[in-house]
Amino acid sequence: MRPVNKGAIPKNADGSDKNFTDYKQAKDDLRTRLGSFCSYCEMNIDNQPDIEHISPKSKKPELEKEWNNFLVACKSCNIIKDNNNEDRDGFVFPDTHNTAFLYNYSILGVSVKDNLPNDVKILATATFNLVQLNRKLDTSSRTDDRALARLHAWDKAQDALKDFLELLPVTSTPEKKHALVNLAANTCNGFFSLWIQIFKDYPEVKKAILENVRGTAIECYDESFNPKENLRRSDS
Ligand SMILES: [Zn+2]
Repeated sequence: MRPVNKGAIPKNADGSDKNFTDYKQAKDDLRTRLGSFCSYCEMNIDNQPDIEHISPKSKKPELEKEWNNFLVACKSCNIIKDNNNEDRDGFVFPDTHNTAFLYNYSILGVSVKDNLPNDVKILATATFNLVQLNRKLDTSSRTDDRALARLHAWDKAQDALKDFLELLPVTSTPEKKHALVNLAANTCNGFFSLWIQIFKDYPEVKKAILENVRGTAIECYDESFNPKENLRRSDS
């Protein structure tokens, strides 16, 4: 789950904090800060971004228009999460925690990593269950396309790795290598954590992937651009 930096409350032209009278007014600012990707499943949601209330509107109406309570979510994550949490307590969220190292992505789907400390695992599992991150394609529901999209992303990333490895040995100059790295990284359009895992041995590609998309909390990755294994952000 890509950890994000959403930044401070967006400003008006006169430098004052924006005061949203309707939470939907925050959509453009959220897109500008985070890109059009679901904050939970990482799917590209250019066509249908929802504003996600971390603490549900029905449970914390006082936070309905608060910037600090917003993320971006796909329809599936948003509908499944619904009002099933009270607030942030007992969960991890990608705007406050380092969520980069908690989940394992494979051809079989997403899972909570086995080797996490128990207290971390409990929180990671709670968020995993809150949005049913590994729900299989449900043919009775026309809304949940996450599993299929993730599978396509998996194939795309494996193909990109194959092309990268074929061309790398015959890449003769730093400029050509730079172009090759960008070619691989630019093919990634969502499901970043899956790409980071597939390109685990190629720090330049991981760096380009993480820097390509707005709002990634780059401080949650080490010098080789692998996720750091601390739930707390280094700046918190
Ligand atoms: Zn989602």
